[in-house]
Amino acid sequence: MAKAIQEVINLMIAEIPNAPLEDSVDTFKCGDPNQEVSGIVTTFTATLDVLRQAVALGANLIITHEPTFYDHRDNTDWLGDDPVYAAKRTFIEEHKLTIWRFHDYWHMHEPDGIQVGVEKVLGWENYQHTDNRYVIHIPPTTVAHVIEQLKQKLGTSTIRIIGDLDMPCQRIGMLLGSIGGDNQIKAFHLANLDVALCGETTEWQTGEYIRDAIAAGQKKALIILGHATSEEAGMQYLVDWLQPKIPEVKITFIPVGDPIQVV
Ligand SMILES: [Zn+2]
Repeated sequence: MAKAIQEVINLMIAEIPNAPLEDSVDTFKCGDPNQEVSGIVTTFTATLDVLRQAVALGANLIITHEPTFYDHRDNTDWLGDDPVYAAKRTFIEEHKLTIWRFHDYWHMHEPDGIQVGVEKVLGWENYQHTDNRYVIHIPPTTVAHVIEQLKQKLGTSTIRIIGDLDMPCQRIGMLLGSIGGDNQIKAFHLANLDVALCGETTEWQTGEYIRDAIAAGQKKALIILGHATSEEAGMQYLVDWLQPKIPEVKITFIPVGDPIQVV
């Protein structure tokens, strides 16, 4: 049975506690929600490369976690006649693609859909969770061993770390994505974290806080995964969550990986 794009979005929002929000970044970024859905792509970011793959798959709805046009609210006035923006916009219009952001709602899902997806990949979902679920109590180990697991399970060969690789640890803060330097610092203190996993950090804030913590004799470490690596398993998990609700529509996760290469 044919479904409109809007119907798919409505049934997703219906699953989120305290939704809909009056003010949210989870809006249509382009396209026509009344169009019949031909296929769905889920992704961390709707890059031009992801959009090309969506067209090849015959999908006209892209559900993205992060913005499409390089701004939290996808305001585009500031871009003016920027040629990169123009190329992306032209491609979207030519192929009649609809892009919808699933950021605030997926984090509001109980439990947080992004964190669940990452935990599933890491095999951490059955460990004790405290502090509104964002602290995971893993079996006692070292920072080096945690990094080894992260590399293996998240499929990344490079991870940045501030702290001591031999430090024992157990309380891991899942500060995925980019929550801001002051929020990272507050989490270390208020949740008494041994280690935090983050996507991005603010080096002059959290970086220096960890450096001072170690100098003051405390045991703290920050593992910087990269924003995409820290969250994209959550958009992969979205396929498992959404597919049973609309079995007639093909849903495909497209990974993007991190934009940065280490040389
Ligand atoms: Zn996120």
